[in-house]
Amino acid sequence: MRLVSTDIIKAEVTKLFQSSAYILAEKVKSHLAEALGREQSPQGRMVLETLIKNHQMAQNTTVPLCQDTGLGQVIIELGQEVSLEGPALFDCVNQGMTQAYDQAFLRKSTCHPLGRQNRGDNSPVSLETIIVPGHEVKIIVLAKGGGCDNKSKLTNLPPTVSRETLVKTISSIVLEAGPDACPPYFVGVCLGGSFESAPRLARRALVDIFENPPMNQEEMALADEVLLAINASGLGPMGLGGQITALGLRLKLYPCHLASLPIAVNLNCHSLRTSRVTL
Ligand code: SF4
Repeated sequence: MRLVSTDIIKAEVTKLFQSSAYILAEKVKSHLAEALGREQSPQGRMVLETLIKNHQMAQNTTVPLCQDTGLGQVIIELGQEVSLEGPALFDCVNQGMTQAYDQAFLRKSTCHPLGRQNRGDNSPVSLETIIVPGHEVKIIVLAKGGGCDNKSKLTNLPPTVSRETLVKTISSIVLEAGPDACPPYFVGVCLGGSFESAPRLARRALVDIFENPPMNQEEMALADEVLLAINASGLGPMGLGGQITALGLRLKLYPCHLASLPIAVNLNCHSLRTSRVTL
């Protein structure tokens, strides 16, 4: 058994949320730069140039990438040969997240669902813990903006649906967001699973959008079709018209009930604030 302190996990969660607020992952930056190379619409180019300038300024000045600094979501892959020592895992992850928002003066966005009073600390964190083989602890954080979370969706289609309808349904969920979720988008999709697992797997597809292993051939083929349909729409950066409506899409195929075909789409704006560390 390997001992891992939950206080160390807390400190790592704080670091990850703070850096995610200012610094986009290199792959996100390179996708924005590459999109600027392909975009032909003057308005689309202007938006992409502004987004690139914005992330450069955020990194140089440690001013957040966006006024909406997001809800704190964390996925922990916990090796089954790890023994945790210290305070309760959830408490440490929650405190690690709230500490990041407090110390870095990031906007706190959680409130009572009816009274709408702000909780003042961005709590509670959303924590998914997965037990995996091995002796490592992988921590993945996602600071999810409200605008793009509002447009994420879970739906069900008849299992006999045609591929054409499938592609249209997934791309329509993205396109119905219009400019409201700040395109160009990153999209995580799960086709299959259940009411419980499909949104979870769509989020995992989103945070793993640039990770290995890549999608399998079947997933890749469908993902390419959907991405093509989204970018053929002409919605463009910030909905001002252009070729680049989505920067990337990762799709997960997962077994489902023979009576069902769930589709979960986790939509993220251009500001994909996710980072990870392995202890
Ligand atoms: S959707 Fe993204 S870019 Fe738009 S306001 Fe929210 S966090 Fe900011």
